[in-house]
Amino acid sequence: MNRIEHIGIAVNSVKSAANIYEKLLNTTVYKTEEVGSEGVLTAFLQTGVNKIELLEATHPDSPVAKYIAQKGEGIHHIAFDVDDIIAEMARLKDDGFILLNDEPKPGADNKLVCFVHPKSANGVLIELCQERR
Ligand code: ZN
Repeated sequence: MNRIEHIGIAVNSVKSAANIYEKLLNTTVYKTEEVGSEGVLTAFLQTGVNKIELLEATHPDSPVAKYIAQKGEGIHHIAFDVDDIIAEMARLKDDGFILLNDEPKPGADNKLVCFVHPKSANGVLIELCQERR
């Protein structure tokens, strides 16, 4: 596992949250992208080496919609950059972590991703992400 790649924040509206975070970080959204498989609209901001991913549900069955219904807006996941997502998934599985997907799947911002169940990580949803080459 390398550095934290980004922090994901569940929001009701990417558009209004982007306004706030653009002011907060004094930067602009560099990418917005819909990820159909996850039922989310995402927007990314970068400040220094740090990235924030804003996540808005695109339908009521989206995991982000369920998250907001239960907990409200807020930090949704922490994503770690990995060099070899297959190897990291195997390592974590061998160590007893519950993975939410068996195969890496396409995520936002040109990544392959896998999620680790919050039950395995003290209540925090962890995302592994590998840059797609
Ligand atoms: Zn993410």
